Amino acid sequence: TRKFVVGGNWKMNGDKNQITEIINNLKTGPLDTNVEIVIGVPAIYLAYVKSIAPSNIAIAAQNCWKAPKGAFTGEISPAMIIDVGCNWVILGHSERRTIFGEKDDLIAEKLKHIEFLLRLMVTMLCRIRHAQTGFYASKIIILNLRIKNILACEKFEDEKLEELLNQDRCQALTELGKTLQVKHALESGLKVIACIGETLEERESGKTEEVVFRQIQALVPAIGDKWNDVVLAYEPVWAIGTGKTATPQQGRKQTLHPGVSRDNGTSFPDIGDEKPIVHQSAQDVHAALRNWISTNVSSDVAAQIRVQYGGSVTAANARELAACPDIDGFLVGGASLKPEFVDIVNATK
Ligand code: 13P
Repeated sequence: TRKFVVGGNWKMNGDKNQITEIINNLKTGPLDTNVEIVIGVPAIYLAYVKSIAPSNIAIAAQNCWKAPKGAFTGEISPAMIIDVGCNWVILGHSERRTIFGEKDDLIAEKLKHIEFLLRLMVTMLCRIRHAQTGFYASKIIILNLRIKNILACEKFEDEKLEELLNQDRCQALTELGKTLQVKHALESGLKVIACIGETLEERESGKTEEVVFRQIQALVPAIGDKWNDVVLAYEPVWAIGTGKTATPQQGRKQTLHPGVSRDNGTSFPDIGDEKPIVHQSAQDVHAALRNWISTNVSSDVAAQIRVQYGGSVTAANARELAACPDIDGFLVGGASLKPEFVDIVNATK
């Protein structure tokens, strides 16, 4: 059986007074002792929270860099998180991706450079087809060598490049950046809450599974055999901070037929779209993820991996979500700052 795990993600909220109050509230509880609790704290307060939190509450950083130390102004490393007594980190949160674009990621910068070279190469290939001159041919060879060199220094293979070219640029860059962060954090001895989830646009075009499978696929090599140290958080981006949650249970699928009006009153386009769009419930997506892991990693990992649901979880909806067989916990944003977090922790009681 999988131990229920509830994470609080305070994001960039709280000051010393408020934090002390939140911790005191958690101390009062009472908290279900069968539930693992991890709170994600702003980096500057990690040591303070560690000094006042009871030992049954684990503490997570909300992000970390992918190297142990060095000239990375403003960043913190897994080694530092461990040094102040914390042993978890949340990685790949959609806010890191959408707001910050993980742009300071060295790999992403390198890949952008590659992309520029590749564009050049494609242009030249087109020209060579027309012009058939030796000049363009030699340029291509040089460019090819430069790309190979850049790839070699990060040990990327040709198939990876192929894959990158076939994917949306931004997504591909952040997937890789995230993968390296996860790898380094796990190698450093941290436990990782790895976040995945689709945007509203992706959901509405019926791509939820495709997106989350791609995201988890990118994590598999980074995780290696360290699945015991990983909790997956399925956080549909459209549900974060919006008050909307994926419906908990199976059998509540919302099937949108062409031309049928949605909740928000907009009409689904009926031109050239014969297929009804099925909006998966949270349970559906969690089950699909477990199934994917069973097929692509192992049935043992699938059976033991804990998949949290995140996105507008409150005391009011936690019980129903917690009752779903494949939902093994929550990652809670806004409500983790409030007294109701205790009720969310106790949702399986
Ligand atoms: P909310 O619970 O505020 O929607 O945030 C969810 C989240 O992003 C947790 O990481």
